[in-house]
Amino acid sequence: MSALPASTTVLSFEDARRVVEEQAALIQADNARPIAVETVDLLAAAGRVLAERVLADRDIPPFPRSTRDGYAVWSGDLSQLPATLEMIGEIKAGEELDRIPSTIASGQTVAIMTGAPVPPGPDAVVMVEYTSQRGQQVEITRSVKPGENIVPRGAEARAGAPLLDRRLRLNEAAIALAASVGKSRLQVFARPRVAVLTTGDEIVDIDATPGPTQIRNSNSYSLAAQIRHAGGEPVLLPVAPDEPQGLRRLIEEGLRSDLLLLTGGVSMGRYDLVEQALTEMHAEFFFTGAKIQPGRPVVFGKCGAGAPARERPATYFFGLPGNPVSTMVTFELFARPMLEALAGQSPRDLIFLHARLEKEIRVKTGLKRFLPAVLSGEFEHPEVELIPWQGSGDIAATARANCYIVVPPDREHIAAGEWVAVMRND
Ligand code: AMP
Ligand code: MG
Repeated sequence: MSALPASTTVLSFEDARRVVEEQAALIQADNARPIAVETVDLLAAAGRVLAERVLADRDIPPFPRSTRDGYAVWSGDLSQLPATLEMIGEIKAGEELDRIPSTIASGQTVAIMTGAPVPPGPDAVVMVEYTSQRGQQVEITRSVKPGENIVPRGAEARAGAPLLDRRLRLNEAAIALAASVGKSRLQVFARPRVAVLTTGDEIVDIDATPGPTQIRNSNSYSLAAQIRHAGGEPVLLPVAPDEPQGLRRLIEEGLRSDLLLLTGGVSMGRYDLVEQALTEMHAEFFFTGAKIQPGRPVVFGKCGAGAPARERPATYFFGLPGNPVSTMVTFELFARPMLEALAGQSPRDLIFLHARLEKEIRVKTGLKRFLPAVLSGEFEHPEVELIPWQGSGDIAATARANCYIVVPPDREHIAAGEWVAVMRND
């Protein structure tokens, strides 16, 4: 029972995160890990990771576009106000080319609508609010700068210019841009399969009736939700017993996925067998703990065992502590960047927001803490407050939270009114 990893390495939060980011960068550069590509309808592409470059199919905008309802003018005609111009026509959005005057001379104007092409000649559009029309005469009471209220042809992008790069996770703006250049189908990377292996003799399936000392498996479900949210495909394995053979068999099964997440069994208890099992399988450990709370016993490594006969790189795994809030927090801090890399996504920084603390916090020093909290306050006045909880097993408290307050390891007291870092979790 004593085959612990050759060295136990407990890192600061920042160092542990850096180790994960380094490994994530390695797998992205690794040609031995090509990611399958599939083609999906644009409607299904939100949240997927782009596997092709999307280019502008023509200049954007394709014509000088009026951004206002008003009158197209020569700005120089408005040096003396009010100015009176002769209206010679009207251009609506989508106007056919042969209905657009070929030129408009100084002293003349056309009524123009938002989204309509500005004809040759005028260099600005005056908003309708600053005009009054009598017959063919338009009186204008405000001057405009050259270019005002017109987006020149090609100002947003030139035909052929790259608009969206590979490895981008598609949000609504990216979807809009793809739509605007007529990409009704997009090539995206296949979602990585992420095995979830819960360990513990006390854990029962959610459909079973738990005995008096048993608890239901919630971690597999919170992880599945987080995996989906991060762009992965969860593969839930059966609950592993706190017994070496059964555990090992399931770990081998989990290592056939693109990433293996274990929960439970990584603390110092007599039946915490995960590290031992992985050590016997010749796993390489990058760290076996991080100075954080919750989640201190988190383990990160890779292991070749369990791979099918064909050549295949080792599978990365995380041993996440079993306490439900520890599992959630360590997924977010460490497993997520790895999953995103396996999904083909470019790395992104972990950025904490700041909010004003409503009630003081007192904790012990030594660990960076991620404590469930409620972020509120309107507009530019973010306020945050800890949720009272019973520690990292308290799912009910965490379900009432919408963020974590991040407490640096050297702070034992933070006064009400101070600005604190916050990690969003919704
Ligand atoms: P462990 O990390 O195995 O020592 O577990 C720490 C705590 O988390 C114990 O109270 C476990 O009962 C609990 N726990 C472990 N796995 C799960 C799970 N899948 N769902 C809910 N609670 C769990
Ligand atoms: Mg356990």
